[in-house]
Amino acid sequence: MFVKPLAFFRFLYPSLIWKKAGSKKIWLTFDDGPTPEVTEFILSVLKSEKILATFFLVGKDILKNQLIYQKIKADGHTIGNHTNSHLNGWKTSSKKYIQDIEKCQELMKENVLFRPPYGKITSRQILSLKKKYKLILWDILSYDFKEKNPTKLKNNILENISDGSIVVFHNNKKSYEILKKTLKNIIIELKGMGYSFSSSW
Ligand SMILES: [Zn+2]
Repeated sequence: MFVKPLAFFRFLYPSLIWKKAGSKKIWLTFDDGPTPEVTEFILSVLKSEKILATFFLVGKDILKNQLIYQKIKADGHTIGNHTNSHLNGWKTSSKKYIQDIEKCQELMKENVLFRPPYGKITSRQILSLKKKYKLILWDILSYDFKEKNPTKLKNNILENISDGSIVVFHNNKKSYEILKKTLKNIIIELKGMGYSFSSSW
């Protein structure tokens, strides 16, 4: 599994943000949702560890779960746009893709962040979106949607993390089981390694 994105992609898309600069700080991000139960679980862990994260949310799920959406914001976390219908940019015309993003954006007017679902976005889409949004990819993919072994999931993150890393978790049902077993522990271990957590971009 490629925990880190291939250097080739990072070279190809220099206007995307893959990693932040800065000393001993990391950015935890959660894609998808809001999702009942799962989001509430994540929020409770973040609150008990007193850290802030960034949530890349899907417009149609915000509409279904408005109270949870309000709670994410009330807890002080940063929100970002993840399209209205979780579209794959490689399989969608740029016009339709941008329209879908704008639909989600109407629900989060103050937002300036965008993360493409599946990390799949075309050069043309990047060109048109980067005028309005910071396009956030990642440095560390947790594989919480696929990995079943809690120790492996944790070690993948701890062994690959470095100053300025952007870590991706998922705020959906697929990742819930493994996050219940690992999320709090991962945060505690990262703190033990001297890292602090940022949600400012
Ligand atoms: Zn997603």
